[in-house]
Amino acid sequence: MNTTSQIKKIGVLTSGGDSPGMNAAIRAVVRTGTELNLSVYGIRRGYQGMVNGEIEPLETSSVANILQRGGTILKAGRCLEFLNAPTRAKAVEEIKKHDIDGIVCIGGDGSFRGALDLWKEHQLPIVGVPGTIDNDIAGTDLTIGFDTAINTALEAIDRIRDTAASHNRLFIVEVMGRDSGFIATAVGLAGGAEEIFIPENPVSVDQAIQRIQRGMARGKTSSILIAAEGRKPGRAYDLAESIRKKSGFEAKVCVLGHVQRGGSPTAVDRILASRLGSASVHALCQGLSGIMVGQQNNQVVYEPLVDCLSKKKQIGQNLLDLTNTLAK
Ligand code: ADP
Repeated sequence: MNTTSQIKKIGVLTSGGDSPGMNAAIRAVVRTGTELNLSVYGIRRGYQGMVNGEIEPLETSSVANILQRGGTILKAGRCLEFLNAPTRAKAVEEIKKHDIDGIVCIGGDGSFRGALDLWKEHQLPIVGVPGTIDNDIAGTDLTIGFDTAINTALEAIDRIRDTAASHNRLFIVEVMGRDSGFIATAVGLAGGAEEIFIPENPVSVDQAIQRIQRGMARGKTSSILIAAEGRKPGRAYDLAESIRKKSGFEAKVCVLGHVQRGGSPTAVDRILASRLGSASVHALCQGLSGIMVGQQNNQVVYEPLVDCLSKKKQIGQNLLDLTNTLAK
């Protein structure tokens, strides 16, 4: 298959926090690009590598045997100077030096802000692929890495429940999610949590204590509460202390932390990454730019980056309500 588009050489980068499935997305970009007779270049270490010109060709064989690997072969990372326009101009110079006509940026909302700047300021053709465990990007039902992260957290919660049940204990499990409670909500429901603390739907300590007490009155001997880490990782310790002071209940705390980021991607993440990675190359070839490729109702969609960044993705209140209903 050939392309008649202006795009002949494309670059791909992974930026921000890494997420399982990024490698599957890189593979899809490289192999779709090759199929369309494009040259594909890997940009290392996110925007930092773009600024420094850390750019190298990727062949079909460069992405062999990475589909199942967590992390990203291109390295991800943060580049604080990218918030300054002159640094972005330097990055565009590097891209032009390599005659690259279009960029696929795999990352989260911060990375998309950088992508939008590149497009607006320099008309650099750029397409975003949502890669973050947080699932907090509007315009796509799922982000790459979320499914793996919730399954990792869930495995841990199931193990903790064994101990909680054996010792009649109250546990607070802290999961990732600085500004969003998607991971906490999903693992709370799937793990049978008694209460979920998330930034979007604050639950008071008194409410949580009442729920634990109601459970105990019905004969329940152990409980698991899930807390999104919020702005201050380790907040589960503060919650445990507040619960102890107000009720005398001693809660054990387990902070899952970075184990949720790594690991081999699930089938859901591999399929999502393969579809979106491939669609991003087709989008560039169709002359689309300043957009994200996402998935809605199992269909690939193109959404303007500006909309993805300005809209807040809503937590499913129905999932929170269902968790409460079922936590008997
Ligand atoms: P993520 O993409 O996972 O949300 P970050 O928020 O750390 O991760 O963003 C990744 C990188 O994107 C930052 O280190 C920076 O280089 C770039 N970036 C973030 N916000 C902006 C912004 N407002 N303008 C330009 N670039 C940005």
